[in-house]
Amino acid sequence: MDRCIFCEIAAGRAPASIVYEDADVVAFMDIRPVNPGHLLVITREHHRNIFDCPPVLAGKLLAAAARLAGPLQRATNAAGLNLLIANERAGGQDVFHIHLHMLPRHVGDGFGFRLPPSHPERPPRAELDEMAAAIRKEITEEKSP
Ligand code: 5GP
Ligand code: ZN
Repeated sequence: MDRCIFCEIAAGRAPASIVYEDADVVAFMDIRPVNPGHLLVITREHHRNIFDCPPVLAGKLLAAAARLAGPLQRATNAAGLNLLIANERAGGQDVFHIHLHMLPRHVGDGFGFRLPPSHPERPPRAELDEMAAAIRKEITEEKSP
């Protein structure tokens, strides 16, 4: 693997404006904030993204975010907050060390998720059931040796 900037930050070998750290996670300011207060929460251990991060460790990202949400909201006077993990290029990931974005939001701040043109269509229940069954099958197969 090439040098990973977030591993460097977690190890204290690269500069970062840290707001919180414990044995498992580190939270610091995004170098190119979408809004003031934009934070990244990373695992200390290197994992590419949600597809290879142990679920318990991934949960620690959310636990840290829940702890930081109030202080971040008060410090930035944010009206809202988005939590986001981008996974793989198609999911918008640029840095391949799992990180959870904490994005303070304000009414009319210009940031947002764009919905595809097909979004207003409501698929038939049978289609939803079929997809649910396909996902359940994958869960079952993952559990069995
Ligand atoms: P992604 O698109 O992978 O979800 O987001 C990567 C984020 O990491 C971007 O918001 C980018 O600004 C941030 N970032 C990239 N390099 C650095 C860095 O060296 N230090 C910090 N603090 N943030 C970084
Ligand atoms: Zn890393």
